[in-house]
Amino acid sequence: MSYDICSICGRFFDKSGRNYCDECYEKDKVEYKAVRDYVIQHKGCTVMEVSTITGISVKTIYRYINEGRIEIDEKSHNKLIRPID
Ligand SMILES: [Zn+2]
Repeated sequence: MSYDICSICGRFFDKSGRNYCDECYEKDKVEYKAVRDYVIQHKGCTVMEVSTITGISVKTIYRYINEGRIEIDEKSHNKLIRPID
């Protein structure tokens, strides 16, 4: 049996090909959907706005950006974001 360290919670978990343990993966799916839905419905919103409305941490939203799941508008000072897919 081989293990990975979850990149969200830092716990060991059975290697599954994902970067996250099952617990974080399930939580992440729900949180990402909330963020994605909000961004689709409010084009041009800011990270702070999404975080305030959805209750999902700014750190988590920036992780989505770093993972290429949500895009930042580099030209905007307000860092407008939109989902990739
Ligand atoms: Zn985890």
